[in-house]
Amino acid sequence: MNRSLEILQELKKKGYKVTRQREAIISVLGEVEHQLLTAQEIFEKILGMGSATNFSTVYRNLEMLLQEEIIRKVELNRDAAYYELNYSGDHHHHLICKKCGSIQTTSFCPLERLGDEDGFIPVEHKFEIYGYCKECVKTDSTIDRELISKSD
Ligand SMILES: [Zn+2]
Ligand SMILES: [Zn+2]
Repeated sequence: MNRSLEILQELKKKGYKVTRQREAIISVLGEVEHQLLTAQEIFEKILGMGSATNFSTVYRNLEMLLQEEIIRKVELNRDAAYYELNYSGDHHHHLICKKCGSIQTTSFCPLERLGDEDGFIPVEHKFEIYGYCKECVKTDSTIDRELISKSD
């Protein structure tokens, strides 16, 4: 079973009606995996699927899915907020390139060991990491080399 279907069933179990709009949002986000989308981009993709909709309906449904923790909102230092599906057991962070704007995800959590260190039990956290992607480091000689070697 794919994740979009799993999420739709979860929604049903919680007593929500799975409307065409909600289904469309979840399938759009499921398709792009970890690529983040803005509300506007989600709206455009739904229109592209041939569904009749309007932006405020999409936005309202996004808010509802957020509240139910079906999706997750990622605030970057940009104008619009981004959205992605919130899989259980899928914890990651985003690496945002300050030059080309590409977004990657980490395969591990840099904070995982916090609990072992000092007995503190972390329950939740979110942060994004800004820097330069491999490609930009390769092609742009103005990116501060010293900064890069320090982070090694
Ligand atoms: Zn880049
Ligand atoms: Zn983390």
